Amino acid sequence: MNSINATVFVPGHNQLKRCRGCSELIFFAVTRDGRSIPVDHKARHDGNLAIAPLQDGEKLPRATVVTPGQAAGMRAAGVPVFSPHFASCPEADSFRRRGRARGARQKGRPR
Ligand SMILES: [Zn+2]
Repeated sequence: MNSINATVFVPGHNQLKRCRGCSELIFFAVTRDGRSIPVDHKARHDGNLAIAPLQDGEKLPRATVVTPGQAAGMRAAGVPVFSPHFASCPEADSFRRRGRARGARQKGRPR
């Protein structure tokens, strides 16, 4: 049981935020390509994100997309499977809009 606990991510109170769109509790995790994404704070039966517990020196837990088969295996082992918040957020459009604006800024216009 201890070995499972060590691999199970539980968002700490200082990690929980409220979504600006729908005020659900969420936390942020980092994907493999370094983007931070909002994640539902509760594991979901149709989730597809494995969240690794924080390692020393990390500010955000790492999120890995898993296949439905892997997700089923994790649930069978008692490991929660999470879901990106924009899959359930009624205000998901505002995330996309913000993401696009950020992308445009990253490209950068010469001033
Ligand atoms: Zn939301």
